[in-house]
Order: sequence, then C-alpha cells, then structure tokens
Amino acid sequence: MEYKKTHKRRLTKFGKRFFAFTIVLMIGISVLSLNSSNRNLSEKGIIDNYKEETDNYLVEINYPKVNNKNLLAYANEYLQNKEEEFKNDISDLKNMNSGKYEFITDYKISENEDVLGLHLIVYKYTGGAHYIRDDKSYYYNKNEEKMVSITDFLANDKSLEQLSSLSYYYVMKYSNDNDFGFDENMVKSGLESDSNNFEYFNFIDDGLEIVFPPLQVAYHAAGEVKILIPYNELNGIIKDDYLKYSKKDNNEINHNRNIKEFSNKKLIAFTFDDGPSYIGTNKLLDNLDKYNARVTFFVLGSRVNDYKDTLKRAYDMGNLIGSHTYSHSNLLKLDNYSITNEIKKTNDSIKNITNSDTLYLRPPYGNINANIREISNMYTILWDLDTEDWKYKDANRIANYIVENAHDGAIILLHDLYETSVDGALLAMERLQSEGYAFVTIEEMAMLKNVQLDKTKNYFSIK
Ligand code: ZN
Repeated sequence: MEYKKTHKRRLTKFGKRFFAFTIVLMIGISVLSLNSSNRNLSEKGIIDNYKEETDNYLVEINYPKVNNKNLLAYANEYLQNKEEEFKNDISDLKNMNSGKYEFITDYKISENEDVLGLHLIVYKYTGGAHYIRDDKSYYYNKNEEKMVSITDFLANDKSLEQLSSLSYYYVMKYSNDNDFGFDENMVKSGLESDSNNFEYFNFIDDGLEIVFPPLQVAYHAAGEVKILIPYNELNGIIKDDYLKYSKKDNNEINHNRNIKEFSNKKLIAFTFDDGPSYIGTNKLLDNLDKYNARVTFFVLGSRVNDYKDTLKRAYDMGNLIGSHTYSHSNLLKLDNYSITNEIKKTNDSIKNITNSDTLYLRPPYGNINANIREISNMYTILWDLDTEDWKYKDANRIANYIVENAHDGAIILLHDLYETSVDGALLAMERLQSEGYAFVTIEEMAMLKNVQLDKTKNYFSIK
C-alpha cells in the first residue's frame, strides 16, 4: 500500500514538472530568438553587454572583453548555460513581493608571459538572505596555444594536497591578521584537495594568487578570501615553467666565504637543534672563526622571536638556519594542515629575521615519512652521529665521541641549549682540524660533494 501511494504521488509530480518544462521550453525558444538579435558579435567575437528586465527578473550579462577566441567560446557557453539554469529556477517561483530575481555576471582577466586567464563570476538572487555566487575560470596557455586547467600547472599527483595545506596556512593567517575568526573545520573542508576547490587563481608577479568565493572557506560576510603564495614556496608543487619569476631565489647562497679551499678536506657538518639560546648559541658563534667553521642550526619557531639578535648574528656570519618545527611536535601525529602550520609558522618567523627562505628541515625525534616530506617541501636532514649531549652534559665525553666516530660526510647531532655541548663541539673541532677536517654547513657540504639534494629523501650523511 505504502509503495503504491508514493508511486502515484511521484507520477503526479512528474506530470506537473513536464507541463512546466514544456511552457519553459516555449518561452525559452522565443527568448533565445530575441537574444540572438540583441547580442551582437563584434569582429573580435566579443559580444556586447546584455540586459533584460521583466516585472519578475533582471538579467545583466557583462560579456568578457578578452581577445582570445577559445576563452570567449567557453565563456559564452558557460554564461548561456547559467542563464538558462537561472530562468528555469525562477520559472517555478512566484513573483517576489518587492524586488526582483537577479542574474548578474562579472569577469576578471589575468595575464602573464605564459597564461591568459579569464575568470567569470555569476551572482544569482533567487530569494533568501543573500546572493549565490558561482565562479568559473578558464586558462589559455599562449605558448602551447591550448586551454589548460589547474591540474596542468601542478608538478605531480601529490601537488594538490600540498597546495591544499599551504592554502590552509594562508587562509588561517588571513583570518588571524584581520581578526575574522574563521572556523578551522569550515576552512579545511573548503580546501580539500579537489581541483574544484582551486577554481580561481592567477599567476601574478609576486606569486600564485588564489581566490576563494564567499562561503567556500568562511561565512558569507567575510566575502571572497584572497591569498598569495610566493613562488619560492611552490617549488616542486607548480611546474617549473610557471615559476620562472622565482628562479633567482633558488640559487641564492647563504654564505660569503670561499669554500673551494675545503675541496681536498674531509668534511663534517655540526648541527645544533632546539635553539636558539642566548648563552650556548652565542658562545659557539664567538669561537667558530678559530676553526674556520660554520655550522647548521635547526631552530624552533617558538624560540626564534625571543632570540632574534642571536639568530640574525648566526645567519649573517654564514651559518645555515634550518627548521626544527615550531613547537617540537611529533609530526607523525599531526594532520596535513597542522604539519603545514608547524613548518610555515617557523619558516615565516625565520624569514622575518634573516630575510631568507628556510629549505632544510630536521623533524623532531627524527620522525618523518613520505607524506611529511611532501607536505613540507623541504630537504630532510637527519644525522649519523648522535652525541647524546643532552643526557651526559659532559664536554670531554662529547668531544671524544665525535673525534672517535668522525668520518668524511658525517652529520653530528648536538643541542646549543647546553654550554657543555658547545664546549664539546669546540674541543672536537680543535682536535679534528689537525686531522684534515673542515667544518661546513649542510648546504656547503652538499655543494662541495656535488650532491643535488632530493626532497624525497632523508639524509643521515652526505657522501
Ligand atoms: Zn629536538
């Protein structure tokens, strides 16, 4: 009995719909024939703006003035479909008491050496509290003379996930900077790694600009949310062809000493985690010149602002500054968004002081996997000599361990929080200097050994 009842109701509903559909079709045909006379194509294929107003609705189409036949064809088809959809939607609705249903379109054009982008925005008002906005973008690669989409710009199948995490960081930063208080979960769901969530982007001089329409990542009143990701953070995420503006940053070298004199030496990289600290770090910096040494600091983002001058001094001397995350987190326990947050917050804090990008990561506890490497987009530097300096706090013991285990290409783990660790490192340098060793940063070691570091690997030593 229940089944029959439902079935009957469905048929009735379908009958009504069919009737309505026939009426709409008849109106549609007459409107279309009207439109074709109103919407004149100019010689470039550009259509003049179109306005249609009845007692019930207003249609205002701002046809894009873009000089590219492919983009125009796609745009015209999209706008036509959207307009039909709007008219179908409102055909079932009663006249409004006050005001009208509205369909208004706008567009933006972006262009650089390679890509011409057309972005269409459709505002629809079909009742309720606010407009509904639909966004659609089309991109044309001028060199290859073909239409392209976001997936054509991405370097590999992991890139979208990386872009999603980076966007999360920048959207939350935008929220914090403007006191908007976006809901983290809404932001996350609006940025899931689906290419539809990255519909509107522009390659501009300073980086990749991504625009999220109202309601995608935040409440309606926040409007559209626009973020800018600098090109140097998109290496390995966006194809190199589209990152040409950032090429010079890639090869920037953080030191001003001549490392050629070390080419015949055995190399050791001293690395110091968990700092900076006032006493330990500065004592080390005071003594490095004695051994013609430079070292690598994997600093905690949460400490950087408290020891700005120390960090700046370390960097200016030509030491390498890497990241040890913001709050010494076990990255294996975090989701992708939190991983990005730990990494980006640290890198931003460092860059504020050194004005240079941080490319090297030492994950706390050495905990890392392929996903973290991909999300961080940095070089993962582990160690092969663990001094256990935090446990013994004995300078001689630390120095002995280093000297006994030293070998060419070694990476030594120490902590500059402890004066005993710094003393132990300096004692070891004193002794190893006469054995033909040079003390270099991770970056210098890779250069001297002609190793092109790979972001998909872990480095325990560099050979
Ligand atoms: Zn640590």
